Amino acid sequence: MVTGPVPLPVDRTDPLRRSDDPPAGVDVDGGRLLSRLDEMAAISATPGPAVTRVAWSPEWRAAAEVLHDWGPRVGARCWMDPVGNVIAEYPGSDSRLPPLVTGSHLDTVPGGGHLDGTYGVVAAWEVLASLAAAGRVLRHPVRAVAFVNEEGVVAPPYTGSRAVAGLLESDELDQQPSAAGSRSLRALLESAGCQPAALDRARWTQPVAAFVELHVEQGPVLDQGGVSIGVVAAVTGQQRGRVRIRGQANHAGTTPISMRHDALVAAAEVVLAVRAVSGPGGCDVSTVGRLDVGPNVANVVPGEVDMTFDLRSTDPRRLSAALSDLVRRAEQIGAARRVEVTVDPLPPTAPVPADPLVREAVRRAATSHGLPTLSLASGAGHDCAIVAGLGPVGMIFVPSTGGISHHCSESTPPRDLLGGARVLLSTLVDLDRTLP
Ligand SMILES: [Zn+2]
Repeated sequence: MVTGPVPLPVDRTDPLRRSDDPPAGVDVDGGRLLSRLDEMAAISATPGPAVTRVAWSPEWRAAAEVLHDWGPRVGARCWMDPVGNVIAEYPGSDSRLPPLVTGSHLDTVPGGGHLDGTYGVVAAWEVLASLAAAGRVLRHPVRAVAFVNEEGVVAPPYTGSRAVAGLLESDELDQQPSAAGSRSLRALLESAGCQPAALDRARWTQPVAAFVELHVEQGPVLDQGGVSIGVVAAVTGQQRGRVRIRGQANHAGTTPISMRHDALVAAAEVVLAVRAVSGPGGCDVSTVGRLDVGPNVANVVPGEVDMTFDLRSTDPRRLSAALSDLVRRAEQIGAARRVEVTVDPLPPTAPVPADPLVREAVRRAATSHGLPTLSLASGAGHDCAIVAGLGPVGMIFVPSTGGISHHCSESTPPRDLLGGARVLLSTLVDLDRTLP
């Protein structure tokens, strides 16, 4: 949809504005930011405060239409791409320059919080509204994006960001994601009003000047440290996989301890081995999240165990060292417990460092607003890492109260929500000036 600029009513009742804020020519409207977050939170398949807006669901579609309506009101060209990403673009003064891009994801996990993803989307649209309200045109176009299916509830994650980055193959559309019932992903997209046949048109064929994603931390570091702004140094890499343990199921009363091939006793040691490969010299964090025990009967020595493992690090060498260490420990456990232990790693996802220019711009922006910063890694994956091939990327975190996310009690103090949006806007204005 293309429309001309429409002046926005400016809300002068921002309760969070500090009297010593720098008199910049453009600023976000705190009242509008918070009321738009409330408006989005109400679009949910479950009653509040939990928000359920699974990708391509009727609630997701309703939220996408609200975003689409906000675009024209700020003089931005706004459209939905063939997979369901909602994009708004505010023109720049130099049409030869690639866009500065900001945004996050519009979908949620079932029973999730109102800020995960949505905060970065609403703030991105607020950046456009603020530029329009101030009549400010940057050199670069400014593009706001609401990616679809970051969470991967109904289909493998990052559908929207993989589509724009050219990393989504059309074969995937013909698979039947288990959570989508008997339908293919293509049929699910069509039923949500998307145009999967035109997948190629979702791809961004030109580079971006920079992509900056604003997000809640989803962890406790900023909240516990009393720091308002996190400057993300890197998005973590992941090495996931399965461990299969095969012993011999047998009678729990008649099989002497010394003669058992107990798969679950070996599995207990493998769980501790997974834990042991994180720490100094190893990966950052490591988890066994699932165990399947066979036959899982009280009076039978377990004969089979399958388990998952999830290793994460921002350093690819430490990630592969942790995997080698795990394989070595698993072999030793198998020999000692007289069971067969097989480690099956999945293809790893590489860590993505944030671009130094973006990190510095975020730091300068926070300093200009008098906000303290902390450099930290993102232990969760984000769309920002998926689109890193398109140009320099970076992330801004705001505190998650109690470190809680993916839950209805997810929250961030309004002062920090507004601070993060202000830092986002100032970062983009800074990058517009400082990018080579
Ligand atoms: Zn998220």
